[in-house]
Parts: sequence; structure tokens; C-alpha cells
Amino acid sequence: MHPVKAYAAYDAETPLRRYDFDRRELGPKDVLIDIRYCGVCHSDLHFAKNDLEDSVYPLVPGHEIVGEVAAVGANVTRHKAGDRVGVGVMVNSCGHCHECKAGEEQFCRDSIGTYNADDRDGTRTQGGYSTRVVVDEHFVLKIPDALPLDAIAPLLCAGITTWSPLKTWNAGPGTRLGVIGLGGLGHMAVKLGAALGCHVTVVSTSDRKKADAERFGAHDFLVSTDVAAMKASRERFDLILNTVSSPHEIDKQLRMLARDGTMVMLGLTNDPVPVDILRLMDRRRRLASSPIGGIRETQEMLDFCAKHAIAADIETIRMDEINQAYERMQKSDVRYRFVIDMASLA
Ligand code: NAP
Ligand code: ZN
Repeated sequence: MHPVKAYAAYDAETPLRRYDFDRRELGPKDVLIDIRYCGVCHSDLHFAKNDLEDSVYPLVPGHEIVGEVAAVGANVTRHKAGDRVGVGVMVNSCGHCHECKAGEEQFCRDSIGTYNADDRDGTRTQGGYSTRVVVDEHFVLKIPDALPLDAIAPLLCAGITTWSPLKTWNAGPGTRLGVIGLGGLGHMAVKLGAALGCHVTVVSTSDRKKADAERFGAHDFLVSTDVAAMKASRERFDLILNTVSSPHEIDKQLRMLARDGTMVMLGLTNDPVPVDILRLMDRRRRLASSPIGGIRETQEMLDFCAKHAIAADIETIRMDEINQAYERMQKSDVRYRFVIDMASLA
């Protein structure tokens, strides 16, 4: 067994605190990773607070994991000790169904989440707010040398979750892209969309993040409480990535789609969202959603980021600062991803 130090949520109310446990022995296809950094996704906060009502405690969040390979199982061929690697939101899947064969492991009925999921050995998976992790080699990504290890941790979730819909809906030169919410996902959507050649507009709740949006490559900026500006922006976008982290009305947002435009809902919410069908009908608009992305697609996104020198804008924190980071995240005060330096736990 591999003993690890970690931080866990013990229930939905109290602050995260120290939790030590053992990772499993290496199976033939397993990789043992010394975790250097772990990004803090808003999903971690949803799960810590039981927003989806399926959290099992103690729960170690964290699915934006980067580090170095410490050891590999006997049959591992893709990675070796010392390699820079990453792990995202999945740690296993069946490997032989239609979805796995298509490289869309996120849709496999037996895919296993990095935390708060039942693992094959009957234990619960625990995430990256910890010093080490053991993962099947197929779910371990190679980190190109050109990328800084800390600032690319957020690519493992925020990066792929925005990249996958951009590719699915063929975003490229000429695409008028709207990004709603400038947090972790939103700022990656701006950087990736701009690098793909889209015309990018950020829709934010205030003008506080305007200068940052421009620095990330946005061409335009809208404040969602500015009624006149919102009205003037009707039928403006071909594609909208909606990254808002809490339930909200979407009628005004749908009106911003041009004919045949699509809005992709990325935020996790348990609550139904009311939709005015006439808003869809009158311009043949589409409402869609998308979960993370496949492993092959994640590697493509990492390689694209290396080529275009794209990384996240991060604020590095110590493990014991996680509860303050959550408080700031709840106030949308994130610029633009917290990343935990795991040396602070070791
Ligand atoms: P984040 O960093 O906290 O950013 C969310 C942003 O949404 C905020 O910065 C804020 O942007 C905006 N916002 C928050 N509350 C709002 C409200 N009531 N009304 C309007 N705008 C609001 O969160 P994140 O890590 O990017 O994650 C965003 C959501 O995606 C979360 O629900 C997360 O769980 C989910 N997620 C889904 C997937 C997936 O596979 N689909 C993957 C990862 C995360 P402004 O300050 O610009 O207004
Ligand atoms: Zn995430």
C-alpha cells in the first residue's frame, strides 16, 4: 500500500481538514504519481457541499492533477518513472464498449470518476488534494515539456471541458463565440476560442474582469446587468459556452444566439432550468450540454496548448488555504484558478 496525506470534506458543512489513507498497490497497468499541483475546480466545491446530493464522506476532491511518475506496474508501456504527467476527471472505464473504442470514455457506463466514485476494488476513489495517486495508465496524460506544471493543472478539467464543445460545434475562424461567466472554465474558453480563431465575447456579471478578458484574447465584453447592451446583443452568437456555476435564468442568453446557434450548458446543477420553447423555435436555436472530454481529445488539447503557449492564469495556494479559496470561489472572486502546491502538504 502507498500511504498518502490528503485533505477531505468530512461533511457538507465543516471546513476541509487533514485525512490520511492508503492508495492501492500497483496493478500491472497502474502508474504511481507523486502529485506536485492540483487545480481547484468549482465541481470540487459542489461535491464538498453535496450540491448534487450524492457525496459520500470523507471525500477528497481534486481532478486537475499534475506530477511526476514515481513507479509503474509490470505491464505499463506508455509512462516511465520521472515522466511529467496529468490526471483529469476520470480514472477508469470498461475499455471495450462502443464509447471507449470511440475515445469517448466519459460516456462509458462504467467510467469511474477521480473522486466520489466506486472503484473496481470496492473502495471509493479519492482525488488529487493528496500527495500521491495510483491510476490506470490509459487515464494518465503526457504533459508536454513546453508547459509549466503548475499553470497547466487546470487544463485537465477546465481546459478539456471547454475544448471539447468548441471542437464538437466546429468553432474556428468566423465563429462568433460567447462565453458566459469568467471563472476557471470561462477564462480557458476565451483563450482556447481565441487561439482557434473565433471572435470571442465575454458575458460577465460586472465589468471588474474586463481588462483580464481582453488580455486572455476576448474581442468584446458585455455586462449581463446592462439591459440596453444585452438587448443590442440579440442574435449575435453562433455558439455560447455557458460556464455559470449556479442555477440562473437562460431566456435572455438564448436570445443572444443567431439562427441555428447553440448554447452549451457546462455548469453542474441539480435543479431543472425553465426554457421558453418559443425562444428556441423562432431562430431554430439549440440548447445543449457537454461533460469533460475523452482521453485522446484531452491529449490533443494539451498538445494544442503547448503549441500555442496556452496555460491557465493561476493563484497558487497552500493546502491549508483551501477553505478560504472555496469562500472566494463562492463570491466569483477567482483570478482565474486556484492551484494547490502539494509540497505544502508533504
Ligand atoms: P468558477 O471558477 O467559480 O466560475 C464560475 C463563474 O460563473 C464566476 O466566476 C462568475 O463569472 C459566474 N457566476 C457565478 N455565479 C453566477 C450567477 N449567479 N449568475 C451569473 N454568473 C455567475 O467555476 P468553474 O470552475 O469555472 O466551473 C463552472 C461550472 O462548471 C461549475 O458549476 C462546475 O461544477 C461546472 N463544471 C462542469 C464540467 C462539465 O464537465 N460540464 C466540468 C468542470 C466544471 P463572472 O464573475 O464573470 O460573472
Ligand atoms: Zn472540474
